[in-house]
Amino acid sequence: MRTEATDDLRYDIQEELSSIKEFEVVMFSHAHEDHVKGASEFFYLKYAKKYQSDDRSHIKELWVSAAFLLDTDLENQSDAKIIRNEARYRLKNAEGIRIFAAPDTLKDWLEDQEIDYDDIKHLIVHAGEIISISGYEDEIEFFVHAPFSDDSEEVQDKNDPSIVMQVRLLNDDYETNILITGDTPYSVLDKIVEFSQEQGNEDRLVWDIYDIPHHCSYTGLNEKEEKNTRIMTPTENVQWLLEQAQDNAYMVASCEEITEDTSPPHIIAKRTYEKYTASDVSFLATMEHKRLKDSKPSPIVFTIDDNGIALNEFADTENKVIEKCSYHHMYFRNTEQFISDMFPVRALYLLRINCKVSQNGWRDFFLIDFLRSKGYLRRHKSLDFFIESTTCPAPYDIYWKVRNVGHVAEEKDCIRGEIKPGNAHHKESTDFYGEHFVECYLVKNGVCVARDRIDVPIGNI
Ligand SMILES: [Zn+2]
Repeated sequence: MRTEATDDLRYDIQEELSSIKEFEVVMFSHAHEDHVKGASEFFYLKYAKKYQSDDRSHIKELWVSAAFLLDTDLENQSDAKIIRNEARYRLKNAEGIRIFAAPDTLKDWLEDQEIDYDDIKHLIVHAGEIISISGYEDEIEFFVHAPFSDDSEEVQDKNDPSIVMQVRLLNDDYETNILITGDTPYSVLDKIVEFSQEQGNEDRLVWDIYDIPHHCSYTGLNEKEEKNTRIMTPTENVQWLLEQAQDNAYMVASCEEITEDTSPPHIIAKRTYEKYTASDVSFLATMEHKRLKDSKPSPIVFTIDDNGIALNEFADTENKVIEKCSYHHMYFRNTEQFISDMFPVRALYLLRINCKVSQNGWRDFFLIDFLRSKGYLRRHKSLDFFIESTTCPAPYDIYWKVRNVGHVAEEKDCIRGEIKPGNAHHKESTDFYGEHFVECYLVKNGVCVARDRIDVPIGNI
């Protein structure tokens, strides 16, 4: 759904995927525009010449539901209609396609098209079946939970026959399970849980990643009651499904940043997902997944191997560790350096630093004296840090470190803390509220032989 607007921060999926010239499988969950947008510009489609330029990516196998194939309520020229036409073409040719569910209406349509059901029935997948991909049998399995054939006739809401499956990735003895839900509503999830329990297929509902249905809408949980404004109660079966999370599992919502006003995503649904899953399960939303408060959202990338699943760190251009502020959970770069990582440290000499504080219209004063009064500095002052005394004989090199501490610094992604060479004086201006400290180091013959530190408390006026 990304547009060319400069303030559209969504991932350019066409660009990111353009290096892949052939996809083993492309699945469209259902026929809503937010699940097919851009497909007709990107894929090589067999049914019409105009979609066959060289730069397009090929689809070995196209997976769509019977409801999608039979949908007659699609806008002309829409991506959904174009994909539907491609699916029909492939089914007629009995090649490069799988159709999910077999409602009676599918049989009627085949008859109209003079296609013999027996010729294509190996391309039909029913709920409860496992799909494997030739050549990858030992690595990946798809257990199909939905759509059910009954939900694929006289479709009122295109979301209802979304394809729901558990993708199982096999690495040595380790299994990682991903539940893909499309925009399926809670009523279908209820049915899936019921059927799986009846059939003894409970293990096909365990998950390491739960693709939260319908962009974190409340419809994936239960009906919404008027009185519920903060949190909902999921249906019993959805509660059970949420309990099938494996250790350190992830829920991923494909949606914008979640606020009280977005619909969907509903903040009430987010709270409900968090409440009804174990405390080691993490909630992620695609547009909330940012390196830093002001940066663009980054794709959510997992590494899945024989150790299980891990969420990748944000790749950072400056190679700094990204951490989360404990207060507002904003990301910041941990840029702090430590003198002991740079030089051996031996406290051979004394060093005393001080700081002259000045501001227009005020008399200058020294920070050491001021600190005895336990006050806070006002903002917008100039600070002149300097070496007051040392027992270390010259020559030596001088290094300074300025570190901003606390959640304000973290949220501004400005904790600083780099150690830089300098002179006997080091100038700073008081910038923002919070705790700061400055350290000075003397380095002689490659050894840090003296150090001192001064605290710089800055108030919020
Ligand atoms: Zn959708």
